[in-house]
Amino acid sequence: MKKEKTEYPEYTEKGVRYMMCESHYYMKCNCGGYVAVDEDTVSVRCSTDVLRTMLNMFPLEEKAYKPTGRPAGWHWMSEFVDKDGNVFHKGKEQPKLKGTLSPTKITPKKKTKRRTKEQILIDRHNKKKAVLKKARKKKMKVTDERTEITHTTR
Ligand SMILES: [Zn+2]
Repeated sequence: MKKEKTEYPEYTEKGVRYMMCESHYYMKCNCGGYVAVDEDTVSVRCSTDVLRTMLNMFPLEEKAYKPTGRPAGWHWMSEFVDKDGNVFHKGKEQPKLKGTLSPTKITPKKKTKRRTKEQILIDRHNKKKAVLKKARKKKMKVTDERTEITHTTR
């Protein structure tokens, strides 16, 4: 099927030519279907379809994600020095200070490593312990240090 031979359905209304959205024609688009076109237009795509194509080419997440190697919120830091020695004060570059300071140490966020079963159990246990400790403390206060705290478990 040669593309240039495809004739898309069209009609003219009040002197305006309308042509079916190309993607709509191929059932890829569920827009209204027809778009106002010029006389010499061979094919047309509605704005919805154009937008969708653009989003497919440049996904929003990719646009938003800039791997700068800088920590999140670096531009709020009163002073931040990147690995190239660029100095920023609250996100504003300080060219004069470039290279005069050592790069701000970035403590990378701990990647959530896949925990071993054992580690999960340990973590759970520790969490439980912490919660219990807290609860116990609270109870201690309430009961005015009477020692009826033996049955806080479960
Ligand atoms: Zn369309």
